[in-house]
Formats: sequence, structure tokens, C-alpha cells
Amino acid sequence: MYRLTIHELHERLKGKEVSAQEVTGLLLERISTVDPQIKAYLLVTAEEAMAQARAADKRITAGGIALLTGIPLAIKDNMCTQGIKTTCASRILENFIPPYDATVVKRLKDAGGIILGKTNMDEFAMGSSTENSRFTITHNPWQLDAIPGGSSGGSAAAVAADACIAALGSDTGGSIRQPAACCGAVGMKPTYGRVSRYGLVAFGSSLDQIGPLTKDVEDCAIMLNAIAGHDPFDSTTLNIPVPDYCKVLVKDIKGWVIGVPREFFGEGMDPEVEGNVTAAIKVLEGMGARVKEITLPHTGYAVATYYIICTAEASSNLARYDGVKYGFRSPAAKELMTMYRETRSEGFGPEVKRRIMLGTYVLSAGYYDAYYRKAAQVRTLIKEDFERAFQECDVIITPTAPTPAFRIGQKVQDPLQMYLSDIFTISVNLAGVPAISIPCGFSNHGLPIGLQIIGRHNDEERIIQAAYTFEQNTDHHAKRPALA
Ligand code: GLN
Repeated sequence: MYRLTIHELHERLKGKEVSAQEVTGLLLERISTVDPQIKAYLLVTAEEAMAQARAADKRITAGGIALLTGIPLAIKDNMCTQGIKTTCASRILENFIPPYDATVVKRLKDAGGIILGKTNMDEFAMGSSTENSRFTITHNPWQLDAIPGGSSGGSAAAVAADACIAALGSDTGGSIRQPAACCGAVGMKPTYGRVSRYGLVAFGSSLDQIGPLTKDVEDCAIMLNAIAGHDPFDSTTLNIPVPDYCKVLVKDIKGWVIGVPREFFGEGMDPEVEGNVTAAIKVLEGMGARVKEITLPHTGYAVATYYIICTAEASSNLARYDGVKYGFRSPAAKELMTMYRETRSEGFGPEVKRRIMLGTYVLSAGYYDAYYRKAAQVRTLIKEDFERAFQECDVIITPTAPTPAFRIGQKVQDPLQMYLSDIFTISVNLAGVPAISIPCGFSNHGLPIGLQIIGRHNDEERIIQAAYTFEQNTDHHAKRPALA
């Protein structure tokens, strides 16, 4: 049962073959079997989940079933959950219990979804391997000595290990798509402004988006339907109608033009990734799409631009963790200044400190123009690259990450190497456009490889249709890791 997708499980719940309580019990059991190996969860909320399952069963009996009613889900630990610890995998929020639900959590609950628990992540979503969590390391279900990707590594690993039916992640520079690629899941970063971030702990506010991690494209559409849309509590959400994403689950891309950016293929790319992505593009061509080489000329500046903008925003967003308002205060604190200093020194891990210092530097007088302003200008050029490219194509296809999941520990000593794992995902956040990662093959070592499909602003529909067409003509998404 735990292996099912949302839409498959929904049919069984609707047909009363199984109850929400039974399903939730099975998933909790599955978690206790596999999570000691993969450590996807920071917190499993079994009691609350069973209570939600009882409510879901009542709703089903009353004939009020929705697609997510009775479906067990996992939430990345940077989204607020009322009465349930939300730590961002940081010591500084170790004891933070939010008094409210993030809008996305509320929407899932309102639809009857069951929240199984909170998943591991890189501290404050800063990282690409989930190794920056202050609490535990998450293992890739396909190969336990490999990273699950990051920063939403816990959510991706939970989906891949069937330790939840679907999950939410957040994506500032690739944190949904790259772990999806590493774990063989489907992961989508919607258009900036499509999904409310009310209750998402802020990292880079001009980049952050919440999105689904799922077992297939249909589930991605179902989750997006549930969470997308305007929210009066988040002024950056778009006040425009949300289409029904399930309507574009159509196997047809005849006559579509697929843009393949020349800058994304070449030096540094793993030959197995290149081989599988090239083969995937051929598959789409075989289904009637036309492939066109395009250019995104400012791609080479994306990583540098991102690490100026996101650190600047992070340094400002993280200023609020001062030992006064949230969870942690250093016991060494004797008076105000040492309280700030000690609390922040002990509460933040090394990567978060590195980002705060970088961000403070690029915003400081004398450097602002040279770094922050310059980066903001380059960002506009990157956005214009996409606008120009989309005049000649319907979607853009690239690899999601330059390599399959690397070994745990392999890149921890080298932040720059770590930063480069997001080389293909970061420009999408800078431009604010939507993109998905779907499985498109496996390396010789049996690790999944992801294909990224990028769309125009607010055009999640074409992305979903292209992804669905590819998925339904291949079987990569149906493979499962051989966990005990
Ligand atoms: N790996 C990138 C970073 O460390 C992206 C993280 C994210 O998308 N949250 O900033």
C-alpha cells in the first residue's frame, strides 16, 4: 500500500478498500522499518497523524472525499506546523513551536491530507546534500553511502523510500529539483509567486518557492492544485487564476519546440548524465517534438550571481534569530551583547555563518555597488535570456544536476564544489520561471539521473504536459530502490 501514488491510493480510499487509518498505520510502520537506515525524518508525528486519519475517515464516510483526503504526506522542516516543532534543522530553532500553520500546510490539511512528520534538510535550506543539517545525515535510498541531494533531501528520500506518499520541499536555487534528481523522484519548483510562502522560514526571499516532491507527474499536478494560488498573507503571491493542472495530463507534445541550451552541455558534466539526458531528448523527438539549439548566454554568471543575492537576503532574514524571540538562547549569555553573540555563534552552523558573513559583506557600504547591485543587474540579464529563448521554444530541457548523487562526505570540505551541484537549477530561480525534475535514467552504479524541464512564467501546464508525456512513454519512474 505504501508504494502507491496519490491517485492510486485515492481510488482505494474512495472504493473503501482501505481506510485512512489503516493506510496511515502502514506508513508509520514503513517509517519505522526504513527510516533508521535513511533518516529522512527529523520528527514523526504519529499521534497527530492518526487523529487526522480518523477525521479523514469520517469525511470519507460522509461522502466528502477529495483527492488528498487520507493521503499520508511529509513536510520539510522549514514550513511552520501549528503546535509541532519546526527547526529548519538548526540549533537556533531547536525548540521553536510555531503557533500557526504555513498556508501550504493548512491547505493540505484542509484537503484531508495526513501529516506524517517533518523531514530533514540542510540548515536553513543552505546546501545541496542535507549534510548541513545540525541533527542528522540523510542517506540516499538507492545507495546508503550516497547523499540524497539537498536541501530538501529528507523529503526526497522519504518519497523514494515509500516512507510517505508525497512531500513538500522548498527551492531557492535547486533544493527541490536536485534532491528529486538524486533520489529518482519528481520535483517541481513553481513560478515565483505561484505558491504562498506564508509560514515558510525565509532564506532568500526573492528566490524561495515551495513545491511538491512526488512519485509521478500526476501526483505533482494533484499537489500543485492543492497548494497553488493567491494568499492574502503573502503579498508576493500572484493574484491570477490557477488552472487545473490535472487537465494537462495529456500524452502529446507533437509539434512542440524543445529548446536545448548550448551552455548547459559541455565541460564538467558527467558522461552518464549527458548520455541519459540526450537519450531522453531523443525520446521526446520520437514523439513528435522538434529540438532546437538555443542560447542562454549569461548562464556562466548564474552561480556567482546567486551566491551574492541569496547570501545578501539570508543575512538580512537571519538577523531575527537573536536569542530573544525564538527557541534557543546560549546559556553562556550574561548581558545583551554576549547574548546575541553567543546565541548566534552556538546556534548557527558553519555554512549558515559563512552565508551571513558573505551577505553582510556584499551589502556593506563600499561593496554594495560592486557586488549586490552588480548581481542584481546580471540577474536581469539572465531573466532576459529566458524571455528571448522562450520566443523560439515551448519548453527548455537540461540535465537537473551535473552528476548523479555523490558520496556522503565527498564535498563537505569544498563549498565551491558543493555550490556547483546547482549549476543547472540556479538560473531558473534567478529568472523566477517554473521547472520540474523527472527521472530519466540510471547511472552504471544504479543511481537515478534527473531531467529538468523549464517553462515560461506561469506556464507550469506545459511543463507538466511534457513531463507526463515523457513519463508515460518510459518506465524510469516505476523503479524502486531495493531497501530492506
Ligand atoms: N544548494 C543551494 C544553496 O545552498 C540551493 C539551496 C536551496 O534551493 N534552498 O543555496
